[in-house]
Amino acid sequence: MRTIATRARIRKRGLASWAADLIWPPRSLLTEAMVDRPGVIEPALWGELKFLGAPQCACCGFPLPSDEGPQASCAACLSDKPAYDTARAALAYDDHARKLVLDLKRGGRRDGLPVFARWMAAAGEDALAKADFVAPAPMHWTRLAVRSFNQAAWLAQVLSRQCGKPWKPGALTRIKRRKSQAGLSASERRRNVGGAIKASSRFDAKIIVVVDDVFTTGATLEACARALRKAGAAEVHGLTLARVVRPTDITL
Ligand SMILES: [Zn+2]
Repeated sequence: MRTIATRARIRKRGLASWAADLIWPPRSLLTEAMVDRPGVIEPALWGELKFLGAPQCACCGFPLPSDEGPQASCAACLSDKPAYDTARAALAYDDHARKLVLDLKRGGRRDGLPVFARWMAAAGEDALAKADFVAPAPMHWTRLAVRSFNQAAWLAQVLSRQCGKPWKPGALTRIKRRKSQAGLSASERRRNVGGAIKASSRFDAKIIVVVDDVFTTGATLEACARALRKAGAAEVHGLTLARVVRPTDITL
């Protein structure tokens, strides 16, 4: 006999979804553990996720060792100011974040998107509040043809629904296919992506939040911000699911 809880669950999620859960029970986003609904993480691992927050660089969001006020910048941003106004990320890129990102970008796993968007909405609250729209970091069409999806566009779409701001999936285009960024140093990444991204139209006086899966060295966001500023944007902010905080973690 079904319990009241099971009957309520079937009513809420639909018979097809309930039947699918019997055959393919929802799995945790981080492990093979079974969970009660898709897109969640078992409570024991919650405390291991490294959410980013103050104290951090006012510009790039890099964690700072001590709180020196809301305008404090890291040494890198002081010596070479980025073209973007701010960059924020929900999580530090560690082993857990790497699994979430790789399942999304290589495995096409979508059940974590609502929770990722909630974390990102919290991390990018200030920029999103004033934004005119959100736009995904672009992928070259040849790469899109092979992979069939752009994980940044998935994140931007779900984030747009959650924060009530429009999204413009075609605001930026990648005009040159460059080699994969994997394994490249910061300066190599900057050279690799420089001039490869362009805005699709004028965005005069607009405030734009560019969404991506990972902030690694900031080279992609820098190229997006330069393109959008050239197209008239007043402010460009970056928002990602995760951010590399130790150079040794650049293994995407
Ligand atoms: Zn910084």
